[in-house]
Amino acid sequence: MVNIAETKDLYVEYRTEKGISGEKEIVKAVNGVNLDVNQGEILAIAGESGCGKSTLARALMKLEPIKSGKVLFSGKDISDFTKEELKKFRQKVQMVFQNPFSSLNPKMTILQILSEPLEINTRLNKTEIKQIVLDKIRQVGLSEDILDLYPHEFSGGQRQRIAIARALVMDPEFIIADEPVSALDVSIQAQIINLLKKLKDEFNLTIILITHDMRVIEYLADRVAVMYLGEIVESGKTKEIFNSPKHPYTKALMSSVPKIIDKNKAKIILSGDLPSPTDLPSGCKFHTRCNHCMDICVDNNPDYTYFSDCHQAKCFLYNKCITKEQQ
Ligand code: SF4
Repeated sequence: MVNIAETKDLYVEYRTEKGISGEKEIVKAVNGVNLDVNQGEILAIAGESGCGKSTLARALMKLEPIKSGKVLFSGKDISDFTKEELKKFRQKVQMVFQNPFSSLNPKMTILQILSEPLEINTRLNKTEIKQIVLDKIRQVGLSEDILDLYPHEFSGGQRQRIAIARALVMDPEFIIADEPVSALDVSIQAQIINLLKKLKDEFNLTIILITHDMRVIEYLADRVAVMYLGEIVESGKTKEIFNSPKHPYTKALMSSVPKIIDKNKAKIILSGDLPSPTDLPSGCKFHTRCNHCMDICVDNNPDYTYFSDCHQAKCFLYNKCITKEQQ
């Protein structure tokens, strides 16, 4: 397996203003994340809103300042990129956002929207650019008649197809899709999910899928990393995690989806809201909401326990399991 991107002990923090007092506070959004992304896979990053998954994705794209740690792309630290390398990186890595209406300029036609990245980044002439745009439009299942229309003339699902076509015009290797179906009607979600799967196979794309929807992950992802307050609390192959989730937070996320839950098991209700990333809990960050919390969890942050080569979870319940070093 070729590793296309990785993070090493990554921390991302940013300052924000506290309510009307205007007092500054620090959001600790990503806290020591080590993540490998394999070429050609769909890696899902799962978790509640506010868990740091979108900040992690933005850091991977060099859109967030890194406090410490590294992001490597094809083995090279992205903070060492020259201007030319950064330009190439921006072409290879594209993003698809949650809301296709706000991510498409309403004053531009579809042809203008899709041509823009090619006009800025290549020396292709107008005819060549139009040909690429037409190819991409067809690849996402739309007709070439739409080129002179504006984004508001389309449904949500069609707009997301256009946003995906825009991500494809630069022939990317790597796409970060941030909640790509959560703003769409349920009936349309499956079409966009299937489209992403088809394009991934067709172009050997690597996709990071940011989502809170475990059903989408089960269907689409090869691997899952579950995030809680800026940490990855469990990761592994999708099948392994869905068959045998270990971390209490992963179990709670899964139990909230009727299709996934075992008929004999009740939905796990987490107590309280997600704590603020400006004031992280001590010890295991999940201890304030965990039904299995023990004394040790309050002041100590657990290490990862390995259940297989790539399945790991960060929880004191599995202290007796063998660690990776012992394998
Ligand atoms: Fe719960 Fe303790 Fe495991 Fe954290 S370490 S998830 S608090 S049991």
